[in-house]
Order: sequence, then C-alpha cells, then structure tokens
Amino acid sequence: MSTEFFDAPDRPATATALARGFRDAHGTDPAGVWSAPGRVNLIGEHVDYTGGLCLPLALPHRTFVALRPRTDGAVRVRSLQEDGEVRLDLADVGEGSPTGWAAYVAGVPWAMRRKGFDHPVLTGGFDALVDGHVPYGSGLSSSAALECAVAVALGELAGAPLDDTGRAALAAACQLAENAVAGAATGGMDQAASLRCHEGGAILLDTDDDTVTQVALDLAGAGLALLVVDTRAAHSHAGGEYGARRADVERAARDLGVPNLRAVDPARLQEALDRLDGDVLRRRVRHAVTEIDRVRRTADLLRAGRAGEIGDLLNASHDSLRDDYEVSCRELDLTVDVARAHGALGARMTGGGFGGSAIALVAADRVGAVAEAVSAAFAEQGLTAPRFLSALPAEGAARDL
Ligand code: ADP
Ligand code: MG
Repeated sequence: MSTEFFDAPDRPATATALARGFRDAHGTDPAGVWSAPGRVNLIGEHVDYTGGLCLPLALPHRTFVALRPRTDGAVRVRSLQEDGEVRLDLADVGEGSPTGWAAYVAGVPWAMRRKGFDHPVLTGGFDALVDGHVPYGSGLSSSAALECAVAVALGELAGAPLDDTGRAALAAACQLAENAVAGAATGGMDQAASLRCHEGGAILLDTDDDTVTQVALDLAGAGLALLVVDTRAAHSHAGGEYGARRADVERAARDLGVPNLRAVDPARLQEALDRLDGDVLRRRVRHAVTEIDRVRRTADLLRAGRAGEIGDLLNASHDSLRDDYEVSCRELDLTVDVARAHGALGARMTGGGFGGSAIALVAADRVGAVAEAVSAAFAEQGLTAPRFLSALPAEGAARDL
C-alpha cells in the first residue's frame, strides 16, 4: 500500500524560485517574498463562535507571495496553482467582489483600510505572484495562509508594527477579507494561527476576548508526531450544517440567558442542560461546554511538559463531535478508528467536519505504520486515497526574502 505524503516546502528554495518567477513575469524584482502557514487545530472544535478556546498550531506547509507595490491602484496577480492573471482595480474591491481566488488577495488591503490601517501602499495596488503549499479545501486553511501572506507583506511595506498586537490587527483584517470579500462565514482562528504562532508551539486562542497565549508543544522531544490525514472527502452540505450548529448554540445561549456558552461553568453543566428544551439542543451544549474544558486541560498538560498524556482528551473531543455535535462523517470516523487501533495515543477530526482532515498523535516511529493502515482501510472501503502531512509546529507569517 503506497501512502502519499504532502511535503512541506523548502522555504529558502521556494522563496528564491518565486522571486525568479516574479522577475520573469514582470521584468523587475519583487519588493520581497513573504509566506504564511496553514494551520491545524489540536483541540477546541466548533467553539470559536461561542466564546470558546482553541489550540491551533502553524504547519510547516506555507503559502508564499512575491509582491511589488504599484501606484496606479491596479492589482495584477498570478498564482502557480491557478490559470491566468487576474487584473482588477483596488477601487472596485468590496463586499462580494472580486469573486474567485483573487478575493483572498485583493480583499486584504481593502479590509486593512476598513480596520484603520492607513498608508498609500494600501491604495496604490501591487503586482503579486503566489505559490501555495497548503492543500486546498482540506481544512488546513489555505485561504488564511494566502490572506496572511499578503497581509504581512502589505503590513511591512506600510510600516505597520509586526509585534503580536500588530499581528492581531492584521488577523482581524484578514478575517474581514474572508467574511466580507470572499463571502466565507468563518471565525478568526485560522488567521490568528497563521499570523501569531511561533515555531515549536501552539497558541491558546480565547475567542471571547481574542487574547492569545503561547503554549510550547515539544512533540519531537516527547518522541511524538502529529499525523494529519487529509481524508479528501468534501461533503456538500457542510455550509448549511455549519450555519445550523451556530444557530443551535446561539439559541441555547439565549435560552440560558448567557452571552455565549463559554459562560456555562462545566461543573454546573447538568443544571444548564436541565433548563434546555429537547435532546438535540442539550447535546450541542454538552459538546461546547465539555470541549472548552478539554482545551483548558490539554493546555495545562502541555504547559506541564506532558504532551504524551493528551491522547484521551483528543479522543473525547472526537467522540463528542461525532455523537453530540454530529459534524463528523464516515471518512473521519474511519481514520480515527484505524489510527486508534494502530496505536495512536489519540485521534480526532479537526476543522469544521463533514470531510477535511483528522489528526492522530502517534509515537514518532509509528507515523508510517499508521498512515499505511489508514490508506489500506480507505482502499478496502473503496474510498478516495487519503493524503498525509506531518505537523511540526512552525513559525507564523514572516518575510522570506
Ligand atoms: P481551506 O482554507 O480549508 O483550504 P477554503 O475553501 O477556505 O479551503 O479556501 C480554498 C480557496 O482559497 C481556494 O479554492 C482558492 O480560491 C484560495 N486559495 C488558497 N490557496 C491558494 C493559492 N495558492 N493560489 C490561489 N488561490 C488559493
Ligand atoms: Mg479556508
């Protein structure tokens, strides 16, 4: 059984090649090359829209942009992953416009201005060449990687501070670009991870007040690896189900008289459940409240240097998402079951669900064996072959050249 690993790019080589490609296309050097990572969420799923906690880390898989400012308000952008050049006028960018992948590029300067960034580089336009090494639509946030690479480029050229506070402001702008211009209703986790993570750690993101705490994640030191399995399953009803879950937790919060489900004390969960109408709403609330508590406990274990002990929390997270929140699917459940049966310390779906990716925490020397077992199980069931990535916590958005 052959397994396909999606390798992380060699950063210096990729950046150098992209600068060369820019020069060939535009006849001049870019002002620089910047890159931003995709992300994977270790734990804390479907709680970012109810004031919860999540614990994402940046992947070594990044999206690069070579960029040079213009002064005439035009944007000309190509991507090595897309056909043709997109040409547009920055003045025409707004809600829902442009459509297609260029929204994730041109939406960024528009959203930065909306968020109070003010510099001629944000209205002058630019030429850009993109090279993405985050698989599309796998729940690893290639969209945020693209936005954040553009944001860190424009932010630096606009003289904006790139400390954590400055990055938080850029993340808010990227989220606005994704929500308003690209029209994707998402929370802010992806952009926060892509901009605010550091190598060797995850971030504990508090979506109630947008604060970020760095949490060291020394997987290699613990003899562990985090295997990401891209199931390559994409279920068409995912968008509608996402909206329905959001509506459920909003209704539950209203019924309980709290601003969001973060406000429910996990020690008094039963009391809250007893006040709700119907089994479905109770299960949704039980997921959110127990998941937020699992994130806290995971972060505590990591801070204590006990990464090898988080497996049960990962498993409980998946079971809750599958049974109480009902956002898993056959391919995700199969991945998790097979990984567990082949020695994973813990495994869970990650991201929005209904397809996308799962993660498995495994002994470093078991990565190949677990990947083979998952591949074999998919083949046996006639499913599209999954792809694999190895996640080592990487650096957030930064300049490469
Ligand atoms: P995810 O963020 O989970 O990968 P999304 O649907 O949110 O999935 O974002 C994927 C979209 O982002 C792609 O369809 C494309 O429009 C855009 N995108 C991501 N990476 C690139 C890239 N390297 N070049 C052009 N567009 C990209
Ligand atoms: Mg996305």
